[in-house]
Amino acid sequence: MAQQDDNLLKKVVSHAKEYGFIFPSSEIYDGLGAVYDYGQNGVELKNNLKEYWWRFMTQVQDNIVGIDSAIFMHPTIWKASGHVDAFNDPMVDNKDSKKRYRADVLIEEALDKIQEKIDKEVEKAAKRFGDSFDKVMFVSTNPRVQEYVKKINEANERLKNAMSSSDMASMKQLMTDLEIADPVSGTRNWTDVRQFNLMFSTEMGSIAEEANKIYLRPETAQGIFVNFLNVQKTGRMKIPFGIAQIGKAFRNEIVARQFIFRMREFEQMEMQFFVKPGDEMNWYAFWKEQRLKWHHALGLGSENYRFHDHLNLAHYANAACDIQFNFPMGFKELEGIHSRTDFDLKSHEKYSGKKLQYFDTESNQSFIPYVIETSIGLDRLFLATLSSAYKEEKLEDGSDRVVLSIPPALAPHKVAVLPLVKKDGLPEKAETILHDLKFEFSSYYEDKDTIGKRYRRMDAIGTPYCVTVDHQTLQDDTVTIRHRDTMQQDRVAVASLRDRLAEDCSMVSLLKNIK
Ligand code: ATP
Repeated sequence: MAQQDDNLLKKVVSHAKEYGFIFPSSEIYDGLGAVYDYGQNGVELKNNLKEYWWRFMTQVQDNIVGIDSAIFMHPTIWKASGHVDAFNDPMVDNKDSKKRYRADVLIEEALDKIQEKIDKEVEKAAKRFGDSFDKVMFVSTNPRVQEYVKKINEANERLKNAMSSSDMASMKQLMTDLEIADPVSGTRNWTDVRQFNLMFSTEMGSIAEEANKIYLRPETAQGIFVNFLNVQKTGRMKIPFGIAQIGKAFRNEIVARQFIFRMREFEQMEMQFFVKPGDEMNWYAFWKEQRLKWHHALGLGSENYRFHDHLNLAHYANAACDIQFNFPMGFKELEGIHSRTDFDLKSHEKYSGKKLQYFDTESNQSFIPYVIETSIGLDRLFLATLSSAYKEEKLEDGSDRVVLSIPPALAPHKVAVLPLVKKDGLPEKAETILHDLKFEFSSYYEDKDTIGKRYRRMDAIGTPYCVTVDHQTLQDDTVTIRHRDTMQQDRVAVASLRDRLAEDCSMVSLLKNIK
C-alpha cells in the first residue's frame, strides 16, 4: 500500500503558489472552488508537458494526426454520447452540517473502514501466533473476519447494482444499513440521494430558452469522433490511424478537493485510435504498453506507476484500465485507456443521420471502426511531476534547501545566467551570454542578492543549470556552471554552454528515451 503523505501535498500546494506555478483562481475574491490559474513558471512546465505528449503522439507515431476542436458543440452530441442521460454522480447532503457528498464515495469509504478492521484482526492474530501464522487460513475461518468480508461483498454488489440501474433509493438504503454518519456533524440526518449531472450548461444566442441550451464539453473525445471522417478523408488516413487533441474540459464535480487532482475546469490530452473491428484487443495491449513506456521515460520513477484494470466496464467499453500514479494521496488515476468499441461513431450515425464509415479499399467494404482511447489529465500529470520533483535537503553546511528535480527537458527554465556582482562589466557580459542562449533555451537572468540566494531560488523553480559570470570570465571567456541536483560546479568555456544544454535539456533525447 502506498503511504499517503498529506504533508507533502500541503507543501507542494504552498510551494507551487510561492514560486509562481499555481495560484487559486480569482484569489483576491477569495477564490473559486476547484479552479486554478497557472503562473509564470507553471505555464512553462505545463507547455513542456504538452509538448512531450504532442510530439510523441503526432510526430513520433507515424499514423496519428492532431486537431483542435471547439469547446462548444451541437447539444445533440452529448445526447448521442450518453452524457446527457448518464454522466451523473449520486449526490447527498447532510441536513445538519449542510455539507454535500458523493454517496458512492461515502459508501466506499465506509467499506474501507471495515477492511481496516479486517487488517487489524489479521495483525493481532499474526502477533499472537508468530511464525506459525497462516493468513489465508485465518481470513477464511475466523468468524469475525468472515462476517466483515461478507458485509463488504454484499455492500459492493448492492452499490454496483444501484449505480448501474440509477436506483438512488437503494443507494440511500445502503447508506442507512452501513450506518454512515457525516464526518463533520457526526449525524445520519441525510437528504435523499439524487443524481447530479456533471455537465455545465449555458445558452447560445441572445434568448435564454431550453432549445438554446449548450454544454461546456466534459471531455475532448467527442470533438474527435465528430471530425473522424473530415480528418480521414482530407488526410487520406488509412486504418489503423489516430487523432489526438489537447484541450479544456469542464465537469461540475460534486466534491472537488486535492488541489489540481480534481478540478472543475481542467485540460485533457486524448487520442482516439481507429482500428478494424476484431483487432481492438491487440491495439488495446499495444497502447497500454506504449503509454506506460512514455510515462517511464519521463523519469519520475517507474515504481510510481501501476495498471488498474476496470472490472465494472462502462456500457460502451469492452476493456478498460487506468494508469495510476503514486500521488501524495496514494495511487490514483492519472490516465485512462479504454477500448470503446464502435459505440460513439455508431451513436453519432444514429443521431446525425450521417454515415460515419470507413471504406476499406482492400476488401471493398465499409465499416464503422472500433476505437482505442488514451486519455490523460494534463493537470494530474503536472501534479505527478511537481510532487515527485519536490525535495527538501539538508546540506553539508547545516542549511536547508528545497529543490525541484524536474526532468531538465521539462523545467520552466533551462539555465539562469548570473553575474557574480552587479558591476565591473559583469552584467553586460552576462547579458551577452544570455542573448546567445535564449533563442534556443528558456533562460533566466538575475543580478539581485547574493549568489547563494540566487542559486536557492533557481533550485526552488527547478532550473537545471546556473551559469555564473565572474571577473575571470572577462579574461578567458570561461564561466562556472552549477548543476541543480548535485550542486557541483565546473569551470567551462562559454563556447561550450550551448552544446551542454542541448545535450542535457533536450526534448528530443527525452522522446528518444521511450524505448
Ligand atoms: P475520476 O474517476 O478520477 O473522476 P474519470 O475516470 O472520470 O476520473 P476520465 O473520464 O477517464 O476520468 O478522464 C480521463 C482523464 O481526465 C483522467 O484520467 C484524469 O487524468 C483526467 N480528469 C478527469 N476528471 C478530472 C478532473 N475533475 N480534474 C482533473 N483531471 C481530471
